[in-house]
Amino acid sequence: MFHRFTDQDGQITGQGSIQPSTLKKFIETNGSDRFFSDKDLEKFVNEGEINDEKICLTFDDGLMSQFTSAKPILDSFGIKCLWFIYTKIFDNEYDISEMLNYFVAKYYKNFEEFYTYFFKRVGLKDSIWSSEIFNNYRNELKQKFRFYSEADIRFRFVRNYHFKEKEFDHLIHSLIKDHSHKPKEISEKIWMKEEQITQLQSEGHEIGVHSHSHFYDIKKMPEHTQRADYKLNSDILTNITGSKPKTAAHPLGSYDKTCLKILNSLDIRYAFRSNSIPINSDRLGKYEKLLLPRIDGNYIETAAGF
Ligand SMILES: [Zn+2]
Repeated sequence: MFHRFTDQDGQITGQGSIQPSTLKKFIETNGSDRFFSDKDLEKFVNEGEINDEKICLTFDDGLMSQFTSAKPILDSFGIKCLWFIYTKIFDNEYDISEMLNYFVAKYYKNFEEFYTYFFKRVGLKDSIWSSEIFNNYRNELKQKFRFYSEADIRFRFVRNYHFKEKEFDHLIHSLIKDHSHKPKEISEKIWMKEEQITQLQSEGHEIGVHSHSHFYDIKKMPEHTQRADYKLNSDILTNITGSKPKTAAHPLGSYDKTCLKILNSLDIRYAFRSNSIPINSDRLGKYEKLLLPRIDGNYIETAAGF
């Protein structure tokens, strides 16, 4: 499972950006014939054949850096993959956390430098940091994620509790404008357009569902909202590629039985999780194939032993 790659100039496009050379080395170390060819992918999608000997690569979120930096390497080895794409981008909406990631990676030395600017710009009163609600939040987060810095915690608190979702989106948009950039220009650099998706499909890759909104916890949505979200995603992708998606990846790893039922009703044959933690297959019944495990691309260096 891959997300961001460094771009053609070698610049990172957000946290966890992978160098194309790392992907190349991973393929060479394993041997290119161990990866899915067009025939393997077709057999998997249409006939349900899962070949344990083979490695299936997947790409989430429809990011342009995947197309410009990873696809040329896949092409050079004849490897075909699954691409899971959320579609609100085609509805004139942006994914604000992806925008922020790209923006900070491009225009700041690191996230700490961005936070300094952010807090100055927002101009919060210092008393907020001695409030009980912040201290409770801080203690809870520190226990769960030891690697978070003080600034990470303050930023997350402000984002999740101080602002309403729309207010925060607005604020990030105005920060981007402060730096004389237009959100639309940045979004065009982050996400693939319809033509790239069509090209992937026509070259034998498989395009799959990843929800329309890419909401941070889709299982918390009411059932009818979830259904509408997944259906819209499937419909938009069908419109772009001319064929109905048969595969899916749970957005941000979020799913429950209702999500699985919805995906099943949309004729999704296979869906992937975001981790490979074993799950109790007895409880899954007919939905077992909608819970296939994946390994994060950031672990490929360890997996390849270099
Ligand atoms: Zn995603």
